[in-house]
Amino acid sequence: MNLLTCRVLILPKKASDLFKLFTEEQEIHDPLFKAANVSVYIKRDDLIHPFISGNKWRKLKYILASVLMQRKTGILTFGGAYSNHLLATACLAAMNNLKSTGIVRGEKPAELNETLFLCQSFGMKLIFVSRETYQDKESLISKLLDANTYYIPEGGSSVEALLGCAEMVDEFKRSYSHIVLASGTATTATGIAMGIYRKGLNTRVESIVVLRGAEYLGQEFNYLPEHGSLPINFHHNYHCGGYAKVNPELLTFMFGFIAATGILLEPVYTAKAYLALTNLIKESYFPQKSSILFIHTGGLLGILGFKNQETIL
Ligand SMILES: *Cc1c(COP(=O)(O)O)cnc(C)c1O
Repeated sequence: MNLLTCRVLILPKKASDLFKLFTEEQEIHDPLFKAANVSVYIKRDDLIHPFISGNKWRKLKYILASVLMQRKTGILTFGGAYSNHLLATACLAAMNNLKSTGIVRGEKPAELNETLFLCQSFGMKLIFVSRETYQDKESLISKLLDANTYYIPEGGSSVEALLGCAEMVDEFKRSYSHIVLASGTATTATGIAMGIYRKGLNTRVESIVVLRGAEYLGQEFNYLPEHGSLPINFHHNYHCGGYAKVNPELLTFMFGFIAATGILLEPVYTAKAYLALTNLIKESYFPQKSSILFIHTGGLLGILGFKNQETIL
């Protein structure tokens, strides 16, 4: 059964119109949603760019503006071995004639994985450090950062990133009662909540946290004056064992969705968030007639790390 209305039959002639068709919010027709009397739409931020995908583009947009305004010639940043942020930074740096250095958590593997291979192809210099060394970012930064290099925190979390994510709200075609998305640092979710607050919309952000033991999330942005009133809830029960951990339920669910829609999800972020959305609907978390927007935050390369079902770093 296909869960999407088949819109491929009305393919427009121009590629730019095709892009518009695919990136507009689409309704997902799942009988489960109908039974619960809620509607669910999907916003395909995964289509923004194959490597600067989803929220990574939104987070890096104003950071890039700062880099260029300050006339820096290079970027230094951090990430894990499957970091979508490293890949997005590497690609964006290559496009803008900037040098990039990525400090990677963990010893150098015998063979680079797909993500790191692409980072290197985009010209990123990869520096592998042990997990202990990685923790001490201050001393790594002081060793590696020079006056011509711009430092981007791990995951791209910064005020610039919040501003870029807040802008997403202006693109919504409908009004929604809830926005559901996957969170790592929760910068994206917080930015969207800021955008909602600024526009005075009656919408709540439901942030599905993919890390285990990350109950501190939501307190980090206390410095924002309006923090107390941000319309955001954090859900901590859907990490499926922890960051980049999977279980059979998650994988079965994910492959079922992919085959029923032609939309790829990956197990680290988006599949967990969509599984959480489905479970929350089953538990009647959302009132009847809720109009829910699921944000596909991208990061699709992540699925390749699971092709042999190996556990990833
Ligand atoms: C990085 C990433 C996230 C997490 O974004 P945060 O702003 O750190 O919460 C979610 N989904 C995907 C696909 C990502 O690559």
